[in-house]
Amino acid sequence: MSFARPRVFVGIQPHFAALSRSSALRTPVVARRLLSGSSCSHAEHSPNSHDPLVSGLSARSHHRADPPIEYDSKGNEVNPYSAGPSALDKAVHLFFFTEIIRGMWIVMENFFRPPYTIMYPFEKGPLSPRFRGEHALRRYPSGEERCIACKLCEAICPAQAITIESEARLDGSRKTTKYDIDMTKCIYCGFCQEACPVDAIVETQNQEFSVETREELLYNKEKLLANGDKAEAEIAANLHSDHVYR
Ligand code: SF4
Ligand code: SF4
Repeated sequence: MSFARPRVFVGIQPHFAALSRSSALRTPVVARRLLSGSSCSHAEHSPNSHDPLVSGLSARSHHRADPPIEYDSKGNEVNPYSAGPSALDKAVHLFFFTEIIRGMWIVMENFFRPPYTIMYPFEKGPLSPRFRGEHALRRYPSGEERCIACKLCEAICPAQAITIESEARLDGSRKTTKYDIDMTKCIYCGFCQEACPVDAIVETQNQEFSVETREELLYNKEKLLANGDKAEAEIAANLHSDHVYR
């Protein structure tokens, strides 16, 4: 036993020595890194020095938030904080809770104001004449369909939600035999309405057309014409109010 202890020390000592030596070497490096640990590492902050410690300290002083120096018309230095509230003002506001009182006053004001919320669906807010809701196909007052099957709406639809088939009428003009809109694809961009040369396809103000099955949202020509017949007065009024912009 008496011989084992020195052997243990002899075995471990070089390791400790090496550890302590490397730590001693590392300490100033770590210290310098901490001192120079600035978010900016640009070399231009210390162009004349290659010492990282000096470079880091210089970078820190560069980023210190010094108040800007301002000068009046005669070149005299002006204190930028002289126009703000004095220390006495701040103390008065602090001790008399003026900010809290002002905040409570705003709460009281709003307590007695009429509420901004409405009881939808019993109450409804105003809608813009340009609101883009459910689609409809329109007729002329004579009952004739407006659509001339030019297919501009089908071509412009970015969602490819419109499908049209057409045939010639007796007078040579064209009419649709099929006009389908897949409302599950529609993104309500309004391009079809804008592209239509005869205001046949429009988007009404109706936004309440939720259904229970997907198939009910595959609109055909009859459904679209029925929508148009139902909302014609509203559609015409909205188009008239908007015509100066079109
Ligand atoms: S509103 Fe837009 S996405 Fe919907 S059918 Fe018209 S063009 Fe297509
Ligand atoms: S709805 Fe208008 S744009 Fe579409 S095919 Fe008919 S006329 Fe052309």
